[in-house]
Parts: sequence; structure tokens; C-alpha cells
Amino acid sequence: MNKKLTIWITLAVLAAAGAVSCIKQPATSAMDGWEKIGEDTSSGEPDDPEDPDGPENPQTPDDPTPDPPQDEHWFLTRGIVCGWDDVNAPKTLDYIDIARKHGLNTFSIYGGPRGQQVWTNFESDCARYGIDLEYEEHMMSFLLPRNLFNTHPEYFRMNENGVRIDDANGCPSNKDALEIVYRKAQEIGRNYKSTNHKYYFWQDDGGGRCYCPECKDYNASDQALIYENVCIEALKEIDPEAKLCHLCYATTTDPPKKVKPHEDIFLEFAPFYRNWYYPLKDSWVEGVNGMTHAKYLKSLHDHLEVFPVETAQVLEYWLDDSMWSGWNRSQLKEVPWDINVFQSDLETYAKYGIRHITCYTAYVGPQYVMKFGYPDFLIEYADGLRDFVKK
Ligand SMILES: [Zn+2]
Repeated sequence: MNKKLTIWITLAVLAAAGAVSCIKQPATSAMDGWEKIGEDTSSGEPDDPEDPDGPENPQTPDDPTPDPPQDEHWFLTRGIVCGWDDVNAPKTLDYIDIARKHGLNTFSIYGGPRGQQVWTNFESDCARYGIDLEYEEHMMSFLLPRNLFNTHPEYFRMNENGVRIDDANGCPSNKDALEIVYRKAQEIGRNYKSTNHKYYFWQDDGGGRCYCPECKDYNASDQALIYENVCIEALKEIDPEAKLCHLCYATTTDPPKKVKPHEDIFLEFAPFYRNWYYPLKDSWVEGVNGMTHAKYLKSLHDHLEVFPVETAQVLEYWLDDSMWSGWNRSQLKEVPWDINVFQSDLETYAKYGIRHITCYTAYVGPQYVMKFGYPDFLIEYADGLRDFVKK
């Protein structure tokens, strides 16, 4: 059966049962729909001729709404993660204007036309209003290019049947592969330099771990950390203030057991299998893949025994319309925004000491506005983060 159809039917069934969660569409390739990372993007090509919104709004530097000093807010990071198509129509939906008026301060944009004037203008506008730009993505296919499998299958993971396979991730016990990862980490870091020194080199989406004799006793999070500890050393050579994400998500929901993180690795907690119709504090609620809210709260607690709470970040999906639409932009669904769930979740995260929050807003762009009207939930999300007061 068509994978997209299968997933949508799954979502529909779960929705009908009042227990909607999500299972991300398995990509036919780990790089489907991604940017061509590592390719030269400095060609100075003209602006996108298919800009759906025409020229960007002229800025009004005489009317800035400065963001209050960050230390006035409990949540220091107030972010969004979405695509260039979502933010590149400011006449319809002006993310930068929302950010400057409602206190968002971090954008992670995928699919941006880096190297082109329109992107440079976007970067300048973000800088003008104190919005950091970073880049969150699954990176293993770029850190360890899959085409190396033909000549070096030992760089790649061994599956549970003892067979080397290039479907995802790698064999973190292979020192030669780690050297490649080190060099690639610097290359990617240079091409996707963040303005807040935070980098995100996630493992392959839902990818398996290595079961070779040297790796088998390391869980998926340990194996991710082996790579991340190499990458942070590489990044620090090009950005001494670099911090690198360790993602708690899907296959890495259990914390690492054997490998200790470098001091500049920060936790990103992404509760992808939770249920968004109920607050996370409702521990009895079940999501999918056997995950209950109780298991997620335990996972967060356990991770904070390993990673510093000061830098720990949550990546949420409250506003992720790509997920709600079954990753099918041609069939957008309305975001089932519930401000009460959102505010309760903020209290929950704050109780754990979390001060950094970001959220997917993928597919909440001009097409969304056309179909459902203006997404006031973006304002409520931004205000909610900015105005939150820890009890
Ligand atoms: Zn291995």
C-alpha cells in the first residue's frame, strides 16, 4: 500500500479514537526533500522567480519593536522550525513581524535559498530584529555519505542479522568513519553556521543502530553520542562557542547508558509519539509506539540526569501542520491547536527547569492562510512563551 495513504489512514483512525499522534512518513531516501548539504550555494543566483508573494515588504527601521532583554523571560529560546516556503510570503504571513512583535527569537528554516539575495535579505532582517538563525536537521547521510558503502561497508551499521547495511546511520566504532564524520562536521558547520552557536546534526530519522560486536552493547543514544562527541570537537575548531544537540526522539528516547556527553552537547527533547489532545502532565495518556506520557516524563527526567538542564531544549509539535497533514502539503489539515494544552505543557517543562522551547510550524505558510485563515495560534504560541511566568 502507498506509504502516505497508510500513514494518513493511521492518523485518521487514531484521530477518530481521540488518540491522535503521529508516525513520520518513512522517506524512500534519507535525503528526500532535503537541501543539498555541502553543495556550493554561493552562486549569487537571482531571487526565486516563483516567489509566491512578490517582493518582500520594505522594512520600517524607524518603527522597530525591540525585544525586551532576554533575562526578563523564563523561556530564553522561543523558536520555530519550518520551511522556506512557509516564511517566504510575508505579505500573507509575516513570520519576522510576528517574531518582533511577539517575542520569538529563534528560526530554524529548511530549504532556504542560501547564497541568493533573497536569503541574504532574510538573514539581515532576522539580525535586525534579534532573531537567531539555526538549522535543525537529520545529518548522518551528510556526515557519512552513503556512497562510501560500496568501498567501505565497515563504516556502516551491522543489522541484527550480522549484515552491514547502508539504510541509516553507521558503525560508530569504526575510527576511519569517525575521521570522515569529523571533516564533514566542519564542512557542514561552515555552510550552515548558526547565529546562536547551536548546531543540530541529528541521526537518521528513525534509523537503526549498529549491532556489530564492538557496538552491540551501546544503545542508540550511546551510539549517537559517539558521533556527537566527535562532531562537537570538530565544530569547536571553526566556532569556539559551538554547542551541539543530542536529540531524544524516536529511537533515542532512552538516555545514553555508557557514553558521557561532551560538556557542550545539549539535550533536545522531542516527544514525537505523545498525544497532543492532552497535556503531557496527564501521565496516563497513550500516544503511539507504546509511549505514554508517563514514559516521556520519565525519559525527560532521566535525560536531565545526564545532560545539563541549563541548555536543555524542547522541540515540540503543537503547531506542526506537516505532521497533522500527513506530510502532504497538497492536503493541508487544520492545526488542532489547544492553548490550554500548550500552557499546561509549558508549566510542565518549566517545572523540569527547561528554558529553551522550539516547535515545528511546518506547512503553516501562505497556503495554510488561504485555506484556513490567519493562524492566530502563532501569536498565541509566541505570546505564551514570552509572557510565561514560572509558578
Ligand atoms: Zn558497529
